[in-house]
Amino acid sequence: MEKYDLMSDKAESFINEKEIAYTLAYARKYCADTAMVRHILAKAKEKHGLTHTEAAVLLLNEDREVWHEIAALAEEIKNAYYGNRVVLFAPLYLSNYCVNACTYCPYHAQNRHIFRKKMTQEEIKAEVMALQDMGHKRLALEAGEHPVYNPLEYILESIDTIYGIRHKAGAIRRVNVNIAATTVENYRRLHAAKIGAYILFQETYNKADYQKLHPRGPKADYAWHTEAMDRAMQAGIEDVGLGVLFGLHNYASEFVGLLMHAEHLEAVYGAGPHTISVPRLCPADDIDTADFANALPDGIFLKIIALLRLSVPYTGMIISTREGQRIREAALRLGISQISGGSKTSVGGYAAQDEPEADSAQFEISDRRSLDEVVRWLMEQGYIPSFCTSCYGNGRVGEDFMALCKKQAIHNFCTPNALLTLKEYLDNYAAPATVAVGEKLLREEMAQLPAPRRLYLQKRMDMLKEGKVVFF
Ligand code: SF4
Ligand code: SF4
Repeated sequence: MEKYDLMSDKAESFINEKEIAYTLAYARKYCADTAMVRHILAKAKEKHGLTHTEAAVLLLNEDREVWHEIAALAEEIKNAYYGNRVVLFAPLYLSNYCVNACTYCPYHAQNRHIFRKKMTQEEIKAEVMALQDMGHKRLALEAGEHPVYNPLEYILESIDTIYGIRHKAGAIRRVNVNIAATTVENYRRLHAAKIGAYILFQETYNKADYQKLHPRGPKADYAWHTEAMDRAMQAGIEDVGLGVLFGLHNYASEFVGLLMHAEHLEAVYGAGPHTISVPRLCPADDIDTADFANALPDGIFLKIIALLRLSVPYTGMIISTREGQRIREAALRLGISQISGGSKTSVGGYAAQDEPEADSAQFEISDRRSLDEVVRWLMEQGYIPSFCTSCYGNGRVGEDFMALCKKQAIHNFCTPNALLTLKEYLDNYAAPATVAVGEKLLREEMAQLPAPRRLYLQKRMDMLKEGKVVFF
C-alpha cells in the first residue's frame, strides 16, 4: 500500500486509506477528551481552518453543548468570510447519454427505460433563454460521459452557444462545468473556453466501494477519477469544486477523505478547492436508496456541513435542490454560501416547463420552489440573494481569490455586488411581492454601508437603471 503523502500526485497516496483509518482511530480515542476538544475549538475560533485529524475529533464528539458551539461558530465564520450574501445558480443538463455504470445514478448505461436526450444547440438556446427569463446568471453544466454523444467538442460548442446568448436583461456570465474526468489537454480546452469552475464529485473516496459502485466504463478507474483535479489545475483551471455523494460509504471516512483532498490541492497548487458540494444520496429512477446502508441522517449531515465550514473557512459551500426547504434553511445557517434555485434535473426541463420532469431526470428534486420564491425566502431570513460573478470576470481566481478570501476581505466585494445584482434581479425578473421585500432589504443593507461605499453603490444603481452598468 502507498504511504500517505499529501504532496504526491498519486491518488492512493494523497487519499491514503491507512491515514484515514489512523485518523478515525485517533478521533475515536480523543473525541470525548475535553481538553483536546477545547483545544481544537479554540483553534477553529481563529477562523483559519482545521486539519482533517482535528475535524474528525469534533465529528465524533457527541456532546450537545459542543455541537451548539460548532453550529454558532460555523455561522460566524461564514459571515466573516462572505457576509450574508448567498449566491444563486442553476444546473443545466445537456445530455443524459452515459457509458458508465454508476449504481446510484439513473443515467447509468444499463438503464433501458429512462428517456435519453441530448440537446441540440437550438434547444440549448431555448433552455438558456428560459433560465434567463427566470433571472439566472450563473449555470452549472452537466452531461453524462459518452465519447460519441457528448464528446468534448459538443461541450465546448455548448459553452460557446451559452455565452453568446443575449436575451432580455443580459447574459449568462459564468458557466461552471461538471463533466467526467478527462485529460490535461481537454482541461486546457475547457480553460480556453472560459469556464468558471470545474466541478467533479468524487462520489466516494473509499477505493473498494468506489470499484463496486462503478463496475464498468472509464469512471471505473479510481486513480483517473481521483487525480482529475490535479490534471485540471495543471491545465490552468484555477477554480475546482470537490464533493462526495454522502450515503455511498461510511460518512466519517468520506469526511476525512474530502478534507485530505482539499489539503492536497492547497499544498500542491497553493489554492484549495473553490467550492465543496454536499450532495446526499436521494431517490431516482431505477435507484432505491434502501439499497445503500450508509444513508445519512439529517443531524449528521448538518454537522458535516458545519465542520467543513470550520475546516476550510475560505471555501464556497454548495447545497442543491436535492435537499428540501427545511434542511436548506438549516444548512444556510451552518455555512452554505451557494444554492441552486428553480432547478430542473432533466434534459430540456426549463423550456418544457409543463412536461413531466421525471422522464429524463437525474434525481428527484426536494425543493421545487421557483427561483423567485427562493429569492424571497432568502431575503425573509436576512440573506442577500446574489447573482454576482465578478471575481471570475475580473480575474480574481485561484490563488488570488484565496489570498483575498483568507484575509477575510472578499466580503467587501461580495456585499456591494450582491446588492447591485439583487437590484438588477428586482428590476427585471421579480414578482411584485418579491420586489417589495427586496427594496426594503436593499434600503436596510445600504444604510449599513460606510458612506463612501454607499454613495458609490448608489451611483452604480442609478447607472443600472440607465443600462450603463457592465457586469462581468
Ligand atoms: Fe454517468 Fe455521471 Fe450518472 Fe455516473 S453519475 S452514470 S458518470 S451521469
Ligand atoms: Fe462570488 Fe466574488 Fe461575487 Fe463574492 S464577489 S459573490 S466571491 S464572485
